[in-house]
Amino acid sequence: MSNEHIKRIITPEIFVAYSQCKLKSFSLLFGDKKENHNEYAVVLDEKTRIAKLDYLNEIDKKHPDSRPYSTTEMKRGIHSLVGANLLFGNTQAYADFLRKIKNSSYIQYIPGIIVGSHKINKEHKLWLSFVAYVLSKTQGIRPNYGTVTGGNMRTHRVKIEYLYQKVEQFLRKVKAWETGRTEAPEMFLNRHCPYCQFQRECELEAKKRDHLSQLRGMSEKEIVALNKRGIFTATQLSYTYRPRKSRQVLNSRKYKHALKALAIRNNNIYIVDQQGFNVSGKKYLLMSKEFQIRIFTIL
Ligand code: SF4
Repeated sequence: MSNEHIKRIITPEIFVAYSQCKLKSFSLLFGDKKENHNEYAVVLDEKTRIAKLDYLNEIDKKHPDSRPYSTTEMKRGIHSLVGANLLFGNTQAYADFLRKIKNSSYIQYIPGIIVGSHKINKEHKLWLSFVAYVLSKTQGIRPNYGTVTGGNMRTHRVKIEYLYQKVEQFLRKVKAWETGRTEAPEMFLNRHCPYCQFQRECELEAKKRDHLSQLRGMSEKEIVALNKRGIFTATQLSYTYRPRKSRQVLNSRKYKHALKALAIRNNNIYIVDQQGFNVSGKKYLLMSKEFQIRIFTIL
């Protein structure tokens, strides 16, 4: 279906989501806006809110000449601008502050964002690069770097030059989605799901379809390869498991997804390698998502 007539606003959140799960990015862009009630996300949002308040108080003390952002103040070359809501075409990004580069022959700003965590990760860098991209369209020049201030009030200078290419690739992908040239992404449950606002819907869908990604630990590439062999469900995969001769088993450290699928199908537990598992007669408690809680005795 073509989404040509729908003009969506593209934000850093959607860009960062693209690096976590393409379906999440697509759903944020074309689906109904959904709040993330995940406990971790809520705590982080609250920490970010507090960090922003603290830092902006500091800015007021350190740079009493700072002004709220506006294009007029930007043209005047005020050193620090706070709360910059940047817009260009259908892209939108918010910079907590913009700082003018000193000793530049023309007025040029770099973006700064504030985050709740102490550690700066890949997603913060991507977020910042999207903000810088929108800023570059507003001021006509690309900042080479920006800053991320963590919850401990430490400001990190982050290179972003090399990330502009990723932003542009992503924007081309969005265009392809909008014009219907590219299909909506396939669903693959992945390591980001526990933090995603669409987790419930995707898990229900995966269960309904007996999707291979329910097995977890299986990469998208492996699933696509199995699909090419005509295996689309966990049940189908479970029938492909063939026990090997013991020596081969001991020499093989490869994870056996088919055995896991078989264990789920039979609601059973299989022990592949008994070495170092000499625990007969003891009661064991095994907890896993697939089996829930099982108490078993090894005879
Ligand atoms: S729940 Fe998982 S598969 Fe679904 S959109 Fe979120 S990250 Fe993607």
